[in-house]
Amino acid sequence: MGQTTKWVYSFGGGRADGSAEMRSLLGGKGANLAEMSNLGLPVPPGFTMTTDLCRRYLAEDHSYPDGLKDQIGQALAQVGALTARTFGSIDKPLLLSIRAGARVTMPGMMEAILNLGLNDQTVEALAKETGNARFAYDSYRRFIQMYGDVVLGIDQNEFEDILEQIKDEQGFGLDTDLEAEDWKGIVEKYKALIEDELDEPFPQDVHDQLWGAIGATFSSWISARAITYRRLHDIPEDWGTAVNLQAMVFGNLGDTSATAVAHTRSPTTGEKKLCGEFLLNAQGEDVLAGNRAALNLTHRARLENGSKDLSLEELMPEQFGQFLSICEQLEHHYRDMLELEFTIEGGRLWMLQTRTGRRTHKAALRIAVDLANEGLINREEAVMRVDPRSLDHMLHPTIDEEAKRNILANGLAASPGAAAGHLVFEPKDAEFFANQGKNVILARIETSPEDIHGMHVAQGILTARGGMTSHAAVVARGMGIPCVSGAGMIRISYENETLTVGSAVMRKGDLVTIDGGTGEVIDGEVPMQKPELTKEFNQLMEWVDGIRRMKVRCNADTPQDAKSAREFGAEGIGLCRTEHMFFHEDRISAMREMIIANSAEARKQALKKLLPMQRADFITLFEIMAGLPVIIRLLDPPLHEFLPSETGDIKAVSEKLGVTEQQLFSRIHTMHEFNPMLGHRGCRLAISYPEMVEMQTRAIFEAALDAAAKTGKPVQPEIMVPLVSIRTELEFVKARIDTTAAAVMKDAGRTIPYKVGTMIELPRAALQARKIAEKAEFFSFGTNDLTQTTYGISRDDAARYLSDYLRAGVIEQDPFISIDADGVGELMEIAVERGRFARPDLELGICGEHGGDPTSIDFCERIGLDYVSCSPFRVPIARLAAAQATIRRHNRGR
Ligand code: PEP
Ligand code: MG
Repeated sequence: MGQTTKWVYSFGGGRADGSAEMRSLLGGKGANLAEMSNLGLPVPPGFTMTTDLCRRYLAEDHSYPDGLKDQIGQALAQVGALTARTFGSIDKPLLLSIRAGARVTMPGMMEAILNLGLNDQTVEALAKETGNARFAYDSYRRFIQMYGDVVLGIDQNEFEDILEQIKDEQGFGLDTDLEAEDWKGIVEKYKALIEDELDEPFPQDVHDQLWGAIGATFSSWISARAITYRRLHDIPEDWGTAVNLQAMVFGNLGDTSATAVAHTRSPTTGEKKLCGEFLLNAQGEDVLAGNRAALNLTHRARLENGSKDLSLEELMPEQFGQFLSICEQLEHHYRDMLELEFTIEGGRLWMLQTRTGRRTHKAALRIAVDLANEGLINREEAVMRVDPRSLDHMLHPTIDEEAKRNILANGLAASPGAAAGHLVFEPKDAEFFANQGKNVILARIETSPEDIHGMHVAQGILTARGGMTSHAAVVARGMGIPCVSGAGMIRISYENETLTVGSAVMRKGDLVTIDGGTGEVIDGEVPMQKPELTKEFNQLMEWVDGIRRMKVRCNADTPQDAKSAREFGAEGIGLCRTEHMFFHEDRISAMREMIIANSAEARKQALKKLLPMQRADFITLFEIMAGLPVIIRLLDPPLHEFLPSETGDIKAVSEKLGVTEQQLFSRIHTMHEFNPMLGHRGCRLAISYPEMVEMQTRAIFEAALDAAAKTGKPVQPEIMVPLVSIRTELEFVKARIDTTAAAVMKDAGRTIPYKVGTMIELPRAALQARKIAEKAEFFSFGTNDLTQTTYGISRDDAARYLSDYLRAGVIEQDPFISIDADGVGELMEIAVERGRFARPDLELGICGEHGGDPTSIDFCERIGLDYVSCSPFRVPIARLAAAQATIRRHNRGR
């Protein structure tokens, strides 16, 4: 690197050195400013210093490379030429804003320093030029305060104290009561404070100011808050931030000036309507800070909110119209919903920022579908834009409409969904309650990045202050948790740990409910309702189903599960764990009788009692699945799971079963295993007790015949043998199944087509897949057990130490959540290849928990499985993830 490296990229005047593609070098803000300039939009001219420079600056002991000074000099001259101003001139001074801007939006870094370039002389020039000394000195004191805080490290509050003291002394209520002379006096006091604290005067040389500000902005990349944020959001440390310097434009030059933030569509619902807020005669930070009530941008919003204050649309129709057409142009250009900031200075519109707008999960879905319907993106892009995991949030509860709501207060509906929990006021208390497994609502006067750890564990966020773009609102939307912000009527006392509304007082630990969709704060815990799926959801799912290759089945053992899975679009049952059908109160006795039976004959007698129950269950499942495939797995768990373990229970159960306590105890004793998960379970039970297989098979076929007759639809039972590792195990069990099936069908005089297959959940089974496939018509990967046995870690106990592994960086992902593609995944690939070699039409699926995990689903697509199977609520997630996996595979193949 050296002279030739370009560290500084200019923009403005209808052109730019950079473009939107250069985010990693120019940061999001810098790249988009360049792009807007290239599009010919009115952007105050400026320049961006690159993230490369940041990395170099931090690595080289906070020093700058040769040649940087010249590059900045040239860039400043260019800004000067475009604005007809000169940096440091005492005639027409150029004033700058400086802002950090990383590749992704990242709170915790330096926000902004405005009015850079003001000193004792240039402030006079500004006063003269604007004819407004009050404005000039107010700008100067704001600059000293921001610079003093950010660059010189003097506590903000010290400046605020001076201001408050003067206001008290002079009897002023509001900042606007202060005149030019008052601000001038404050400027002197501020300068004295700095000199007092630092033994050095406030820098009057504008270039000293500039370099000080640049260094502080780069350094803010390594502030404690920024580091924490990056850690929480997996943002690499070595990205660095860019720095943007830009000619100042003033939204606070009088009543023909204003500043605003806007979204091109609703960030809450996704509805296609301009949303936003503005302040007349104010600077940008005033809107974000939320300490002055912002007004509605559009006439429509004003009417909806019943506000008497005119909207920007009514006050400045010409500029509003110009802004609307810019919105349209930018949406078409970026093909997405955007978040915009602009300022009107003396009637002239300036675009300050654009970026892809943050949005709720619900809005993301609606926007993706609408953009595709409007022709801005195609359907595949729309499908790719929705995070499958976000559907979880759409399936979140809302407050039951019938429920009685004792409304305490109203705030802004900042992030949708409803949540109930114990009230806490401090992030550390949120963590403390959450660690005890309690739901919490974190209530703050307003939130800041320091509160993030508390927000993360909270079910909902409530703030007394702050607008729709406040920290709490933005962060909660990003996290997908409900939030009510700016509930102005509540008073929060951190000291007393109370929330007060009028005479009502809520204390720490009290139960509250918030409704982030309406902004209501409600006393107590209110009943919730299952969410309704929107028409955009249904449309997206239609597209998804047209794209995906893999089928999605469900893991269901009860009629209720099967019904909801069908509603969510399941295409059959991928796993019915029959053991779950025996745990019910009314069935467990028959099961226990069967287990303690000490002869095959006694066992058969007990099994006879179970048969009608099983048959009835299967009939219902077949009926609900109306012709779709249903995989029924033979009994899998170690039998001791059905027997009591507590002495008191043993006594009661022995009485019920008509055996002595001693007999039952000794049966339990003989069944004891040191390692039950590697013990007498799965097909091993079927080999020891073939009469169990016979009973289950009989129940399945009698039910299938019955359901087929009732529904008139073909029934497709697939019988699955668990925990096979040797081909002959499967052979043995399959023979029992086939014989029993043949007998039942012969008696009925009708046949039912069926398949017999196996789970692949042991490494040996994967390796022996070729031989096993000679006997199996389908494989279903039981990745819970396969992960357990491949790693040799217990699926029931591993969580305790896997969290240490994750923290220590030994593993990146819990292998029980996302498939370990390297190890478990390789075994699966082997099994697929060898299985298909023996039987080309072998049906392949997955029914471990991974079947509902988007990353694992992508892996399943890559290895060519036919379907994934997951719990009912994850079916929509799996459908979307499967479609995305198909699109990714096509894209790879291009
Ligand atoms: C598996 O092991 O992945 C599986 C689906 O079976 P179970 O969880 O019932 O052991
Ligand atoms: Mg298993």
